[in-house]
Amino acid sequence: MNPSFFFPMLLYRTRVSPKTPRDGKLEVSPRAAEQLAAMPAPLAIVVNGERGTASVTTMECTCRKGEGGDRHVHSFLQSELLKRLPVESEVTVERAGGGDAVLVSSAWRARSD
Ligand SMILES: [Zn+2]
Repeated sequence: MNPSFFFPMLLYRTRVSPKTPRDGKLEVSPRAAEQLAAMPAPLAIVVNGERGTASVTTMECTCRKGEGGDRHVHSFLQSELLKRLPVESEVTVERAGGGDAVLVSSAWRARSD
């Protein structure tokens, strides 16, 4: 019996970028993007309890040019729902038990009030 079939699997943990509320993109690791891309499309997403759809996008760039690095690819999870995530909050990206949805959850809020 494979326990990952029943329990959420953590794919990535990150902090919400100031750009995310504008473009709905959350940068993930290439490995996480690969796992997300292997799930059925359109990707079902649940962001802090709200359901929608998402896609996995990639962008080739040269941001490491000055460091002698080559062209490389940034990977993103993109969804309208991600625009509502508080900037600078920490989020986890998990694959739901059963692998039929991706769960994005805020671990904490940026500002306490
Ligand atoms: Zn880059």
